Amino acid sequence: MSKNFMQNGKWINNPNKTVVVVCECGNKYIKTRVGQTACLRCTANVK
Ligand SMILES: [Zn+2]
Repeated sequence: MSKNFMQNGKWINNPNKTVVVVCECGNKYIKTRVGQTACLRCTANVK
């Protein structure tokens, strides 16, 4: 059950796999999901 959290920790702790992308709104965000195209705010606003 806690394995998902462990995976998230690996993403955060691995700088080599950290991809910083600039969203359309101008905010920089870290790409944490495959296919993610917007920052967390825009992702949350899009239903
Ligand atoms: Zn955005």
